[in-house]
Amino acid sequence: MAQRTFSIIKPDAVSKGHAGAILAEIEKAGFKLVSIRKQTISKQQAQGFYHVHAARPFFNDLCEFMSSGPIFLMVLEKENAIADLRKLMGATNPANAEEGTIRKMFAESIQANAIHGSDAEDTAAFEIAYWFAGYELL
Ligand code: ADP
Ligand code: MG
Repeated sequence: MAQRTFSIIKPDAVSKGHAGAILAEIEKAGFKLVSIRKQTISKQQAQGFYHVHAARPFFNDLCEFMSSGPIFLMVLEKENAIADLRKLMGATNPANAEEGTIRKMFAESIQANAIHGSDAEDTAAFEIAYWFAGYELL
């Protein structure tokens, strides 16, 4: 059964002009683009989105970074979308990312790592509802 996941093309990749290439990798891997929106988010919006990381030492820097320029917010759909997108993304630290993954190809650092993807069904549901209204997901 088709599953939905939430993804972001992060500010580093957008500012370097990699959004189109990343979207192409996502579509090549069989994901359907349910919804996409370019937006510059506020630091407060980033803090709410990343609330599970609030206690981590990198939280403040991460929220500054995510609100530093335009990003693409996306809802993607395919069978096994959540796990398959995580695989396509590669490791959080691009130094550990496998060949052929989006982070290997486009990420510059453990923070500026090109792409976000939900890590489980419950976080995907929260993240989709955080950024998109029901009528945008038909
Ligand atoms: P992922 O995005 O792979 O699910 P996490 O959920 O652990 O990774 O972390 C969320 C985001 O926080 C990462 O994608 C990255 O941008 C940033 N981040 C994670 N760990 C660090 C770190 N040690 N230093 C700086 N930024 C980090
Ligand atoms: Mg995560």
